[in-house]
Amino acid sequence: MADNQRDALGLHMDKPLDERAIGGFSSKVQGQLIRPQDESYDEARAVFYGEIDRHPALIIRVADATDVSRVIALARESGLELAVRSGGHSVAGHSTTDGGIVLDLSEMKGLEIDLERHTAWAQTGLTAGEYTAAVGAHGLATGFGDTGSVGIGGITLGGGVGFLVRKHGLTIDDLISAEVVTADGEFLRVDAESHPDLFWAIRGGGGNFAVATRFQYRLHEVDTIVGGMLMLPATSDVIHSFVAAAEAAPEELSTIANIMPAPPMPFVPAELHGQLVIMAMMAYAGDVEAGERAVAPFRTLATPIVDMVEPMRYPEIYKLTEGAEVAEEAARSVFLDTVDGGMAEAIVHHLQASSAQMAVAQIRVLGGAMARVPADATAFAHRGRRFMAAVGAVYERPDEAPVHEAWVSAFAADLRQGDPGVYVNFLGDEGEGRIREAYPGSTWERLAAIKARYDPTNLFRLNQNIRSTAQD
Ligand SMILES: Cc1cc2nc3c(=O)[nH]c(=O)nc-3n(C[C@H](O)[C@H](O)[C@H](O)COP(=O)(O)OP(=O)(O)OC[C@H]3O[C@@H](n4cnc5c(N)ncnc54)[C@H](O)[C@@H]3O)c2cc1C
Repeated sequence: MADNQRDALGLHMDKPLDERAIGGFSSKVQGQLIRPQDESYDEARAVFYGEIDRHPALIIRVADATDVSRVIALARESGLELAVRSGGHSVAGHSTTDGGIVLDLSEMKGLEIDLERHTAWAQTGLTAGEYTAAVGAHGLATGFGDTGSVGIGGITLGGGVGFLVRKHGLTIDDLISAEVVTADGEFLRVDAESHPDLFWAIRGGGGNFAVATRFQYRLHEVDTIVGGMLMLPATSDVIHSFVAAAEAAPEELSTIANIMPAPPMPFVPAELHGQLVIMAMMAYAGDVEAGERAVAPFRTLATPIVDMVEPMRYPEIYKLTEGAEVAEEAARSVFLDTVDGGMAEAIVHHLQASSAQMAVAQIRVLGGAMARVPADATAFAHRGRRFMAAVGAVYERPDEAPVHEAWVSAFAADLRQGDPGVYVNFLGDEGEGRIREAYPGSTWERLAAIKARYDPTNLFRLNQNIRSTAQD
């Protein structure tokens, strides 16, 4: 970097983040700088997973794309690790750092809705819930995941599997274009015509290539849905039948089946607390009467323990998962091609054997619109997989970790079938072999070549990292 560029950034210093340097830098950005001595530091460094307790040297709540470019330059020039944060829900803890810089997008919440074209430009500090509530006021939606507090930045760049997956596909299937800032600070608009290689890579390749500041999404008419939670007793027969019914259902219906001990919630009869149940989240995005018909077969699989499935405005579905807090959790995720009776028995067996405070197996039935996109059209290559499963153990004390890590490993190994594969956004800190499972076949080589083009020095490395061949 030339001296005049350094001066422009306030980087005229010997040590990268001494007081003088930070003073100079702060006068160049619109956003807020937060440092360890600041009162708001502890709140600002916190991420969704409470067990991830890191101490960045500097947190910058950026105000605009120019700030983003300046923070990228600071990281590049100082050599400090750069964590990029939208909603802070990274399963692997990638949105914070010990001793590095956090580029926090959470103040960038601009949203422009084009009601005629059914599109929206959204800044990446918005959460899925905030975006959904705002566009939902017009009876419109773009699909994200099952939790409103997740940031649109991370979920979109990884793929986005949620309540509309069978009807409208992944979040990236509704991504029309993006505005990004590259590792060398350049502002790019990427779409099918402009930088199509980068547009392909950011649809599934995560934060490896650039910092996204705005996304343009397609909006669908999704107003009143039939949705909510259905709780059934979880015998292996009911699990198997539930999954079969969810596959046979019209693609307007997307389901997420959580098989777990019944939580001690007021609406669950006390004698059933701790009994294995399917706590299913269901969303039928279509006509209400057809939705009631589609949900009816699930109500006959067993006598429902709780039935909260009803017509609701789509944004209300996020109330189901509001306020979740997780301290310690071990988790693994795999794609599956069958869920038969034997597998349902294995699920019951493993859940009953867990000593965790809460053990859960989650099955999402895929297919529909998501499966109609060719596997090589985006960097999310798992289009043909029929189910996505995740197993998790929530526990209290860090010293319990080895027991629960062993449990999730054994459980996931038992479930594994066909080609290995994992959804990058459900991947913890599980090593390069698992990152490669997220990008099967030629996807990895293609991503590595694009990485070499846009981030040759691997500035964006705090993620499920794709190194270019030159970086090996
Ligand atoms: C409770 C919970 C529920 C979830 N449910 C679902 C679900 O139903 N479906 C689903 O698909 N996923 C789900 N996820 C996974 C979720 O999609 C990922 O954890 C995602 O990365 C979170 O996005 P975030 O912006 O909140 O996270 P952050 O921690 O802020 O970001 C995660 C990573 O994404 C990258 N990143 C984020 N924003 C940007 C940006 N603007 N530019 C460049 N890189 C960026 C960075 O590498 C960062 O480290 C869930 C996660 C949690 C914790």
